[in-house]
Amino acid sequence: MLYKENELKINNSLTGEKEVFTSILDGFVGLYVCGPTVYSDVHLGNCRTFISFDVIYRYLMHLGYKVRYVRNITDAGHLENDAEEGEDKIAKKARLEQLEPMEIVQRYTLDFHKVLQQFNNLPPSIEPTATGHIIEQIEMILDIIDNGFAYEANGSVYFDVEKYNESNNYGELSKRRIEDLVAGTRSLDGQEEKKSPLDFALWKNAKPEHIMKWPSPWGLGFPGWHLECSAMSTKYLGEKFDIHGGGMDLKFPHHECEIAQGTAATGEKPVNYWMHANMLTLNGKKMSKSTGNTLLPEELFSGNNEVLGRAYHPIVVRFFMMQAHYASVLDFSAEALNSSEKGFLRLMEAIQVLKEIKTSEKSSIDVEALIQKFYTAMNDDFNTPVLVAHLFDAAKYIQAVNSGKATISATDKERLTKELNAFVFDILGLAELSEEQEGNNESLETVMELVLQMRQQARENKDWTTADAIRDKLNEAKIVIKDDKEGATWKIQ
Ligand code: AMP
Ligand code: ZN
Repeated sequence: MLYKENELKINNSLTGEKEVFTSILDGFVGLYVCGPTVYSDVHLGNCRTFISFDVIYRYLMHLGYKVRYVRNITDAGHLENDAEEGEDKIAKKARLEQLEPMEIVQRYTLDFHKVLQQFNNLPPSIEPTATGHIIEQIEMILDIIDNGFAYEANGSVYFDVEKYNESNNYGELSKRRIEDLVAGTRSLDGQEEKKSPLDFALWKNAKPEHIMKWPSPWGLGFPGWHLECSAMSTKYLGEKFDIHGGGMDLKFPHHECEIAQGTAATGEKPVNYWMHANMLTLNGKKMSKSTGNTLLPEELFSGNNEVLGRAYHPIVVRFFMMQAHYASVLDFSAEALNSSEKGFLRLMEAIQVLKEIKTSEKSSIDVEALIQKFYTAMNDDFNTPVLVAHLFDAAKYIQAVNSGKATISATDKERLTKELNAFVFDILGLAELSEEQEGNNESLETVMELVLQMRQQARENKDWTTADAIRDKLNEAKIVIKDDKEGATWKIQ
């Protein structure tokens, strides 16, 4: 067990303070992160949040905690514009594409998993879906009604915010005052069944045209988006758990409502530490599906985007993200990515050099102190940019030893190798690129040119069997061919 009491500090969004982390059960951590709503391809901004929490998950495990990491899939109940009224995002996409909602869910869940795997994210311990937990959600609503904090109206159930606020503080997470919220909300606009415009739906009565609906004590309907996370986190992590995370944009209303629901159901605040990852921006604006200001991971990996001009390896993109603290805004640009790539290759080279480096009787620097700095950085609210700066110091030292300007003892070499590998690969989740991934494999280029020529010849001869067989075999080898006006191109998946 590496963790020591009082060492790890987390910036708790609930209190606004950097606090010493103490888990509820010694040695165990319950971590819940809001997952994606699977109605479209994940963009790079979404990925940033999930990569930030992947590093947090990895570091907690490195410290020796047994972490139960729950990240849900929202496959129902999330309405357009994150609003209280309107069409379900998934149902809308299904309608537009003439597909079953569950076909949409399956397609984008697979895409989500594939992309996160490309970024070398670890899968969570449990990945529950909202539609798989309708019963738990209904039970939670019944508890909230029993405790007097929700009411039924025309087959829907609403959370009574003003009632809750008499004995609690709605707005404590997002630092909003209920008076300001009331003043800032326009009339009920077709939501007359609510007692107050601040009230939010725990369960919505389904209109006849709504296809995703389930039976409940209040008739056919569907759960509210905020409720899903409360029900699933309670089920797998308990009524009170250690860390809840998500993107900054989910603080209000989503997380504020989660706190209210949990407290209303059990009488206790559900989460000890709230963590919020900051946004990835493009041209200074939040990367967002709704404004079209997005970059898709695939566009980055293939270079098929005008912002970039060329392809970047997912691990390089991951490293770029590590160079900003998770709670700071990060602006995307090709220049920043280029310099990250150079830095990444420098780090990888140093790790290679260290393997072969000659040792001396003594080290010319205090290696143990350098390693301690790695820990100090991560213990300070998972400060990856400071960690990366120390990793670069280590790389510089390794190169100095290699060129005879510094020395390292055998014990220090062993120690540095172990810790460098742990921080670079296990904690930051980076990986060495193979030669072809670095784009240096000339022989592969030559072979592929020949194979594509043979395929082209087969196509001209209308020998579709051979042409298809070539494509399929390449696919099996994870090489995809793309045909366009200029001819065929290929890339490694
Ligand atoms: P959604 O599928 O819209 O619920 O979003 C999934 C996750 O991505 C949430 O935690 C959001 O906060 C996060 N997210 C959305 N846009 C961005 C962005 N531009 N940068 C970082 N995280 C984002
Ligand atoms: Zn959530």
